[in-house]
Amino acid sequence: MIRYTDFCFGVALSALLICFGNLAFTILDGHTRKPQNRIYMSLLMLLAVNAVCEMINVRVGEYDMSSEVAFMITRSSKYVYFLSHGLIAPVLYYYLSFVIGRSVGFRCSPDASKKEKLRVIVSWAIVIVSEFIVAINPLTHWSWYYTEERVFHRAWGEYIFIYITSGLWIIAAFIMCMKSWNILSKGRKRSIAICFLLAVVGVCLQLFIPQLRVEILIESIGFSGVLLFIENEDDRKNVELDVYNSAAFELDLKANLKNKIPVKILIIRNIRFDKTANTVVFGRMNRDLIIKEVSDYLGTVIQRYFIYSVGHGRFALTLYNYSDKEAHELAETIGKRFQEPWSVNGFDIIVSSRIMLVNVPERAKNVEEVIYIAECPIPELMEERIIEGKSLDWIIRRSAVEKAVTHGLDNGSFEVYYQPTYNIDRTLHGAEALLRMNDKDMGIIYPDEFIPIAEQLGIIDVIDEFVLKEVCKFLFTGIPQKNGMDCINVNLSVLECMKEGFAEYVSGVVEAEGIRKKMINFEITESVAAKDYDHLADVIEQLKHEGFQFSIDDYGTGYSNMSSLFSLGADIIKIDKSILWNAEKSELGMTLLKTSIDMVHKMQKKALMEGVETEQQIEILKKLGCEYLQGYYFSKPLPKNEFIRLIENN
Ligand code: C2E
Ligand code: CA
Ligand code: CA
Repeated sequence: MIRYTDFCFGVALSALLICFGNLAFTILDGHTRKPQNRIYMSLLMLLAVNAVCEMINVRVGEYDMSSEVAFMITRSSKYVYFLSHGLIAPVLYYYLSFVIGRSVGFRCSPDASKKEKLRVIVSWAIVIVSEFIVAINPLTHWSWYYTEERVFHRAWGEYIFIYITSGLWIIAAFIMCMKSWNILSKGRKRSIAICFLLAVVGVCLQLFIPQLRVEILIESIGFSGVLLFIENEDDRKNVELDVYNSAAFELDLKANLKNKIPVKILIIRNIRFDKTANTVVFGRMNRDLIIKEVSDYLGTVIQRYFIYSVGHGRFALTLYNYSDKEAHELAETIGKRFQEPWSVNGFDIIVSSRIMLVNVPERAKNVEEVIYIAECPIPELMEERIIEGKSLDWIIRRSAVEKAVTHGLDNGSFEVYYQPTYNIDRTLHGAEALLRMNDKDMGIIYPDEFIPIAEQLGIIDVIDEFVLKEVCKFLFTGIPQKNGMDCINVNLSVLECMKEGFAEYVSGVVEAEGIRKKMINFEITESVAAKDYDHLADVIEQLKHEGFQFSIDDYGTGYSNMSSLFSLGADIIKIDKSILWNAEKSELGMTLLKTSIDMVHKMQKKALMEGVETEQQIEILKKLGCEYLQGYYFSKPLPKNEFIRLIENN
């Protein structure tokens, strides 16, 4: 039979060995740089101290009765045990606050919220009070005492200041982790869950079956799990560059946002050879070497654990507690370094880069926006080497609009408005369908902004189809016809109608909705490259053959070949509003307006003037013989129901 004291000694020794093992792996793997790593090591050391005390306690305790010295050693080891044991739970809590990204450094950030500061103060107060109560135990005997016979007894203080406070710390840590659960990676979730489970089991066993003495062992096993899944950051690392990867970047940034920790992100991108450099001798492998050089250089201006590789030749640095000035200075320093050559395989190579400085959450509200900024094309005309502040705004706006457009149809944020067109005698002629986007976050967005983006994203076809279907549905009600409208104008993206099979496709849509094709008038802008005229002419011919009507939009803004333009077979030419507005400003403008309308008439087409805003303009247009009018003078584009009210009251 094994003796009870041997059993206890063995358990404590196992715990100690596990702690040392974990500590050795941590140091050998080099996970020692971050504050988080250091707290983890402190946890292991606290546990190791516990285990050593326990071992002394068991071994020397056997001689308590016979030896004064032994008794003194046992008592001291108990004392150290309780002092260090009470620290484990709060340090674990602190450790987890780093893991979930709530703490990013040892100091509380100066611009932390009041609530956050209070939390820090209360935490410290609790730790200090409970440690103090334990520390004065030799005088008070509140937490434990020895009888005359030198037998150890627990007192109420141990329950309150060690077990209950530890329990509370663990509950608080649990709540904290739950709140951030969705920003944790799978491995971290698993490891934290197991750690909690073991902690609860350990504390309960110690409380209810104290003779088992397994608490420290269980805790050290829990910390091994932490080492495996949290401290070991293989899944977060870019091993070649010895920095974090983009998955880690996303998770850490999410954690910052979730915990409302402001951070500045410095992005270094477009790392490439300058055209002037002798790059001929350089292949891809050397490019990789340069990127490694850059990464090593970055490691000299900031701690490596703030560096992320977020794409090939693209880095992001997270700057905590940096003032605007300090962040800008760092960007300048890095920018200057890029003016110097990098030395690779004995060659000196100049490499260019662009640097962006993004304040989160002021400039970029979420991870998607930051990633967009890191990846979006930078227009050539943007010359600044360091792009920050306002220059970032349009990039961010664009990213938000892109997102809104992409999800616009699913979110039901598109709505077709109608602007009436009139005959020159001011009777109703028709209407133009104009799209609006009402995004729940951004409010109304106008087509001048989102249509070009939709074209670039390649989703203009579904948007145009949506408009066409809406217009068909409106026509299907018979209300436009009843009020004397000839047709409704639908704008077409030129890119779109040049696509193979476009005419058949559009016919199919309109036929399926059961609408007569002559009720639809397509508007196409004249801004087509001359070489595409033949093809466009074919498409229009085909559409006309199907029975649709046709208008040329924005006449007078392009530099197109007039004769080709008029040969396109449109029925109505819409003259751009700028021509009208300029006519009122100068003699030359007036001549241009007159010539434009004359030209339209010479080609046996009819003219529609957009942008009519005043009575005076109508008088001019009447004299020039313009057939149709459209503009704010009559009405702005209106939502369908308001439009119906307008035409029914006319
Ligand atoms: P557009 O086809 O030249 O449309 C005329 C624009 O002039 C409309 O702007 C209209 O609201 C505005 N407008 C009309 N009368 C006046 C006026 O008296 N004064 C002033 N200041 N403006 C006037 P909107 O609706 O913002 O549309 C802008 C452009 O977006 C359109 O130019 C068109 O090219 C495009 N667009 C609009 N809806 C669609 C659509 O459903 N599909 C496609 N592909 N493009 C569309
Ligand atoms: Ca138009
Ligand atoms: Ca127009």
